[in-house]
Amino acid sequence: MGGYFSEIFYGSKSLLIGMGITFREFFKPTVTVQYPYQTIKMSAKFRGHTELIADEEGKPKCGVCGLCERACPSSCITLGSISVDIEVDGKVKKKKVLSKYELDFTKCSLCGQCVENCSFGALEFSKEYNLASTRKEDFHFNLLKRLEERNA
Ligand code: SF4
Ligand code: SF4
Repeated sequence: MGGYFSEIFYGSKSLLIGMGITFREFFKPTVTVQYPYQTIKMSAKFRGHTELIADEEGKPKCGVCGLCERACPSSCITLGSISVDIEVDGKVKKKKVLSKYELDFTKCSLCGQCVENCSFGALEFSKEYNLASTRKEDFHFNLLKRLEERNA
């Protein structure tokens, strides 16, 4: 008989504790984000795919050294360059400029080797997390074109 009343006591106690927690949480502000109508600001340390950084003139800061391409353990990066004439102190000199920066994001592990090895400070991680597609071609990014579109 004692066990019967003790079960009722502990059952009621646990029910009241549970209801108390429910009641407390009921009046707290809602934290659920109504995605995709609402989005959150990603933290500074978030790593999306890489992006090129522009200089003051809107041109890529990249010095076409090729370090990122060589440092990438997954061979995701393909660079291209052209040689252009520039005038320095009245003399015409040749300068290598970036003509292609392709990123195959299907292979990228977000290891950060490319960003860390860039001594020109020309690369950063984007805050892009909203990527979804059934075609892998949609994850092949032309970073030079993306930079031009951002500056347009
Ligand atoms: S390491 Fe930096 S400067 Fe060198 S090619 Fe890559 S992005 Fe350009
Ligand atoms: S984050 Fe790593 S895997 Fe991705 S492109 Fe850069 S070096 Fe390659």
